Amino acid sequence: MPTSIPSSWMPDAAMKRVHVHWTAGAHTANSTDKNSYHILVEGDGNLVRGDKSIAANAAGSGMTPASHTKNANTGAIGISMCSMTGAQESPFSSGSHPLQEVQWDTMIKAVAQLAKRYDIPVTRQTILTHAEVQPNLGILQNGKWDITRLSFTNSFVGHRPIGDEMRRRIAIELDGLNPSMGGGLSSDLKLPRFRVKGVAPSTLNFRSSPGGDKVGELPENTLVERIAMQQAWWQVRTPKGHVGWVSSDFLVAVA
Ligand SMILES: [Zn+2]
Repeated sequence: MPTSIPSSWMPDAAMKRVHVHWTAGAHTANSTDKNSYHILVEGDGNLVRGDKSIAANAAGSGMTPASHTKNANTGAIGISMCSMTGAQESPFSSGSHPLQEVQWDTMIKAVAQLAKRYDIPVTRQTILTHAEVQPNLGILQNGKWDITRLSFTNSFVGHRPIGDEMRRRIAIELDGLNPSMGGGLSSDLKLPRFRVKGVAPSTLNFRSSPGGDKVGELPENTLVERIAMQQAWWQVRTPKGHVGWVSSDFLVAVA
């Protein structure tokens, strides 16, 4: 079984988002899993294709879509990690089939492939976990908590830290898939870092979304970490941990 998505699994379709789930099942994909998701990541990191085509979830496809997210399946690709049967959020217990780190790593590479294939930007509104659908998109999900805990590490807890960490990894992966963007990133987890240049004596506007409300200002020479890109707008994290969007015109890569 493959560990990257075969191109035949990714037909032409207008897709807007990727939703990342776990199945709340065992480490292998059963018939219910295959019916619900487009792509499954099994416990050993291998990928399994679901029964429904990704194209079935495109708006107006006329096909029965994979139903993976309540009231939010149109335009959304569902990828799910086979794990977490019998799990409990608080106090946290992974149940009999904990999420494996190899599943998480394979999922990140697979989502990067999907983002590239379908030209989906890496943002909190477009590439997100199921647990982020309600807070980030405002669509009620009846307490879904995939993914607010990771079985293999306590370094990230909660939908926002885990979602941001997932997107940070996906953005790095995408840099590797798009050599034209340059940057010379290695395949390790080192963040792409940049410095604010060319705004002094003024400052760089720090916004809530691409072109959105101004929520702060970054002085010349501020060091930032890039989380995501949407054309000329980059989502960055400051040394104090603030996350926002800035114009990439005033960011210079730091070796
Ligand atoms: Zn889910």
